[in-house]
Amino acid sequence: MNPEIIVIGGGISGLSAANYLKEAGFNPIVLEAQPKVGGRTSTDRSLGIAFDEGASWIHGPVNNPITLLAKKAGMETFVTEDDNQKVYDIDGLAYPDEKLEQEENALHEILENFKGDKGKSFGEVIYQEYPHLRQDRLWTFMLSAYLEFDEGSDIFKLASMNFQHDKAFKFDGEDVIISNGYDKLAKYLATGLDIHLSTQVKGIDYSEKKVSVHTTSGSYTADKVLITVPLGVLKKGIIKFSPDLPPQTQKAIHSLEMGTVNKFLLIWDEVFWENELQYLGFTPEEKGKFNYFLNVKKFSEIRALMTFAFGDYAYTTEQMTDQEIIDEIMSHLKAIYGDDTPDPTHMLRTRWKQNPYSLGSYSHATVDSGIEAFKIFEEPIDNKLFFAGEHTISEFVATVHGAYLSGIREVKKMIGMV
Ligand SMILES: Cc1cc2nc3c(=O)[nH]c(=O)nc-3n(C[C@H](O)[C@H](O)[C@H](O)COP(=O)(O)OP(=O)(O)OC[C@H]3O[C@@H](n4cnc5c(N)ncnc54)[C@H](O)[C@@H]3O)c2cc1C
Repeated sequence: MNPEIIVIGGGISGLSAANYLKEAGFNPIVLEAQPKVGGRTSTDRSLGIAFDEGASWIHGPVNNPITLLAKKAGMETFVTEDDNQKVYDIDGLAYPDEKLEQEENALHEILENFKGDKGKSFGEVIYQEYPHLRQDRLWTFMLSAYLEFDEGSDIFKLASMNFQHDKAFKFDGEDVIISNGYDKLAKYLATGLDIHLSTQVKGIDYSEKKVSVHTTSGSYTADKVLITVPLGVLKKGIIKFSPDLPPQTQKAIHSLEMGTVNKFLLIWDEVFWENELQYLGFTPEEKGKFNYFLNVKKFSEIRALMTFAFGDYAYTTEQMTDQEIIDEIMSHLKAIYGDDTPDPTHMLRTRWKQNPYSLGSYSHATVDSGIEAFKIFEEPIDNKLFFAGEHTISEFVATVHGAYLSGIREVKKMIGMV
């Protein structure tokens, strides 16, 4: 008889695992805390448009498993050209294209040859070696809008030894953005599965032959359990394990970190920016502060810009009111387009650090952890507990395809295919 399997979490990793199991003839139960599936692929449709609060892009669509699934799920994609951008300084003047290209090349060169220092953050090491860059607003912008965005971490929290893992996190090809909502992927993967929504797991007892899973809607038992809740949920101890997880697993949970990137969608009646551009950059003194704007009109009918808060500034924004956020963003846009630039008619925003179902955006290695810490999650515990999710796959950490592939990786172990 097939073992009974419970999958905890109905994000992309849990759904990919449950799907694979179902196709292999198993009947897994998925326990999901929220009243909807998808986790960090979440689309706010409250204004009748698709605002992706979490993932937006397929990073490297060539041979990426999400590309085919996206097609099947009816998702529309658009190539966002990274180079199609203009970057403005605080006086509203654009950096010349040659200057931008030259500094970007210098950044790539530095990242290619970067020698980390154990126990030191990326920020500490780069400014130690190149102290003059600290006062350079264009570099502050690049290290934030490019590196902090990819890594989800403040450069002063990111491990200098391990930050380079993002080099491999992509498949090939230019990134494509989903224009009609990433939530379609989870809905597609969830079709036909036995999913118990609004069922938050509070405890897992694996001391007996069968594993007991205690939830806000009663208890379940199974032979094997796949845990796909985000690193932030594991760190907060929301699920009590009995017995405690092995020391190396606990250490990995504590030493890795969950970073935060917040997204802000601003909508206007008319476009006032250069509509042919894909991205606008702005170089304020403060790192991580509304420095990067995605032109949404380029791939949809919506006259909107999406901007971001990176690094520690992402946490700051979570304490700010909507009006404070709009005022800060508008001060940047007014510096570029003039004082009579109108306020947006609507704004949608995220607060990922406060989201109780993830407690952050995506995971990264810290000065206390090596990249090996991600690998600890690949070790099953007593052949009963297994882990999947973006934080368990070092080569594709922090991505949708990583989450998807980690689910399949664990299922193969659970059913004895590897
Ligand atoms: C702002 C942001 C931007 C991003 N941009 C991109 C991008 O452009 N491209 C890309 O590839 N990736 C991106 N990512 C990363 C990507 O979204 C994630 O890596 C991926 O969706 C994670 O999937 P997962 O299954 O590991 O976790 P999740 O999607 O978080 O799924 C875990 C599930 O567990 C549930 N859960 C939590 N606690 C419990 C509990 N106690 N009991 C039961 N269920 C529980 C949650 O509700 C959730 O549904 C982004 C993420 C964020 C936040």
